[in-house]
Amino acid sequence: MAVERFAVTIIGAGVVGLAVAARLAPRFGGELLLVERCGKFGRETSSRNSEVVHAGIYYPRNSLKARLCVAGRRRLKELCRGRGIGWRQLGKLIVAVEEDEEEELSRLLESGSENGVEGLRLLGADAVGRLEPAVRARGALFSPATAIIDSHGLMSFFLYQVREAGAVVAFNSTVEQVAAAGDGFSLRCRTGDGEFTFFSRQVVNAAGHGAAELSRKLGLPTPRVYPARGCYFSCRGRSPVARLIYPVPPARGRGLGIHATLDLGGRLRFGPDLEYVERADDFRVPEGLREKFARAVARYLPAVTADRLDPDMAGVRPRLQGPEDDFRDFLVRAESAAGFPGFINLLGIESPGLTAAPALADMVAGFFS
Ligand SMILES: Cc1cc2nc3c(=O)[nH]c(=O)nc-3n(C[C@H](O)[C@H](O)[C@H](O)COP(=O)(O)OP(=O)(O)OC[C@H]3O[C@@H](n4cnc5c(N)ncnc54)[C@H](O)[C@@H]3O)c2cc1C
Repeated sequence: MAVERFAVTIIGAGVVGLAVAARLAPRFGGELLLVERCGKFGRETSSRNSEVVHAGIYYPRNSLKARLCVAGRRRLKELCRGRGIGWRQLGKLIVAVEEDEEEELSRLLESGSENGVEGLRLLGADAVGRLEPAVRARGALFSPATAIIDSHGLMSFFLYQVREAGAVVAFNSTVEQVAAAGDGFSLRCRTGDGEFTFFSRQVVNAAGHGAAELSRKLGLPTPRVYPARGCYFSCRGRSPVARLIYPVPPARGRGLGIHATLDLGGRLRFGPDLEYVERADDFRVPEGLREKFARAVARYLPAVTADRLDPDMAGVRPRLQGPEDDFRDFLVRAESAAGFPGFINLLGIESPGLTAAPALADMVAGFFS
């Protein structure tokens, strides 16, 4: 039997794989295959996050995280407009509670401005009080560009574009093997009722937590990816805030600090924290975290007490930055596995990966021109 051939295979139907597929499908049509191990799109990290469209404040200048976050946010705003994808530009306050945190706000203002974030401004305690009376702070950095998005609606839209362009989508199909073969790659997939093997001239590895293993199977030098869990607690009752409220971030890449996020339904949640775990599917929210969350939140929202917090959900980041490491960027690389750079690796796509997805897709498309 002849082996089926594709021009491009995209592994993983999370928000990144879907964005890439939507970007490339008009060009490759039925010669593009999107393959996903779950029965539906976005079942892993892409459905376990804060759904915040970040402005791009924190990341080092010229890093991929900074550039793709800023570009991705602009693209998402355009994309959501008029297409019925939920989007609200709530804005965000990064608040300084202690005196020594005020200096950090100026540093963040500088870093955000260098990254091209629009509208950032420092606010004194009175201005913070006028905007958000429930917040206790000595001052804040206000980011009016920060938004929230319906990530599920976004992914549905990308999938619609992929199908409209006639590309092939295979769910319940796990890529188990990938090897260089002639002028491309041979891939073997396991499905519910057997397996199939096919050839693809180029491959985009957007497999999230599964990406490093696939990269190693091809014999590529692959950095370690650490699973880092982030837990959320939901807040009972009406939200005391109308904007996203973040503390000044803790030092050395320990996440953004336990912050207050709102979803499109107005529900308030706190999190995520950051804890390195053994497994990428460890979604437990330990009850014991309640006091830690209550203490962290009470610093800037004194009205929120432990009895208003309920364990909610957790997501796990695929991080290139280990517990003792400094900042690590996204890794996006066209690898020369078959004698030509036909295998495009996307590794360590943690936050702001949702925001950056359309810009990551543009970057990947650049490898095809
Ligand atoms: C707690 C938390 C909060 C976050 N908050 C935000 C936020 O507010 N804003 C933001 O911009 N970003 C945020 N992020 C980051 C964002 O969620 C991710 O960067 C993004 O979802 C990554 O998408 P992805 O498509 O790369 O990965 P995934 O969504 O994990 O998709 C990868 C897909 O590949 C599939 N797959 C894996 N292996 C195989 C295989 N061998 N064969 C076939 N399919 C395979 C998986 O089933 C999965 O569907 C957050 C992340 C976490 C964990």
